[in-house]
Amino acid sequence: MKKHNFSAGPCILPQEVLKQASDAILNFNNDNLSLIEISHRSKPFVAVMDKAVELVKELLNVPKGYSVLFLQGGASMEFLMVPFNLMKINGKAAYTNTGVWAKNAIAEAKKLGDVIIVGDSSDTNYNYIPKGYEIPSDVDYFHCTSNNTIYGTQMKEFPNSTTLMVCDMSSDIFSRRIDVSRFDIIYAGAQKNMGPAGTTLVIVKDEVLGKTGRNIPTMLDYNTHISKDSMFNTPPVFPIYVSMLTLQWLKNLGGVEVIEKMNQEKADLLYAEIDRNPLFEGTAAKEDRSNMNVCFLLNDSSKEDAFNTLWNAAGISGIKGHRSVGGYRASMYNAMPIESVQVLIDMMKKLEQN
Ligand SMILES: *Cc1c(COP(=O)(O)O)cnc(C)c1O
Repeated sequence: MKKHNFSAGPCILPQEVLKQASDAILNFNNDNLSLIEISHRSKPFVAVMDKAVELVKELLNVPKGYSVLFLQGGASMEFLMVPFNLMKINGKAAYTNTGVWAKNAIAEAKKLGDVIIVGDSSDTNYNYIPKGYEIPSDVDYFHCTSNNTIYGTQMKEFPNSTTLMVCDMSSDIFSRRIDVSRFDIIYAGAQKNMGPAGTTLVIVKDEVLGKTGRNIPTMLDYNTHISKDSMFNTPPVFPIYVSMLTLQWLKNLGGVEVIEKMNQEKADLLYAEIDRNPLFEGTAAKEDRSNMNVCFLLNDSSKEDAFNTLWNAAGISGIKGHRSVGGYRASMYNAMPIESVQVLIDMMKKLEQN
């Protein structure tokens, strides 16, 4: 039987998508060729790329004037591409510091200009989302992380910004409705809610580019990829194909509005058990709790072996917490059925009863 996969990333994908993807490896489009052995410029693959872009635009209501790109290098490459494309010479940018990924983004930006930290939750190991900060209007851009995968915190609101707004949405894109028009660049590694590792989704407002006066290396210039429809060089065809299938699956399900409700139900169910069960305790501030990554501790460490035995036997996988937080982390991305969440809750109850 398939395991209940709570992995934080790479993570669970819809079973039917995995089946279609494995079929395409052997025989794509009934053409007796593999998806990964045909030209990326062939008609069948260009159709895949076009469809993937179209689905992103449709599912997120991407307004006119934005480009949708599928790049390589992961979200970590965007940590660098964003300052290259937006930071002026001798420029500065404002960042929130909400965890490891934000810190990595800040480190790259510092290589090209000054970084002002406007909100910082490092004082309590990033267990909350900073709020009420001012974003200076004279910075080149503001950068935030919508969902902090390691700590289980999620921005429920985005600040008003008079400067450009950039967001790393790697671990909650397509999980809830967002107003793309409020952002100038959104990026997300595929492997958390979309497909296999190997491609990164970037949504960029065209008019914000080309204004830094910088000589941007070709591969790091968003305009390179915009002008070639993400095919300046060979794109990662398989991750893009699987992402397209997942987005199609999401559309068939009813889209982002429907999955948002389902994700809320799953999160409510698990957090309710964490708050009810005296053996467990959530680590993130309640108002900032992530609907994607639920971090919790077992209060009595002498029960650890018993709990681990229980969930292992129930076919649960991937709930060990990140080493910097400890405890447990149950990641419940779009493809996770509520039944799997219920299995985890049943094991938490069972531990209490034993
Ligand atoms: C996983 C993750 C990253 C890193 O993504 P890569 O594609 O591995 O570079 C960045 N930001 C967030 C929020 C993440 O969850």
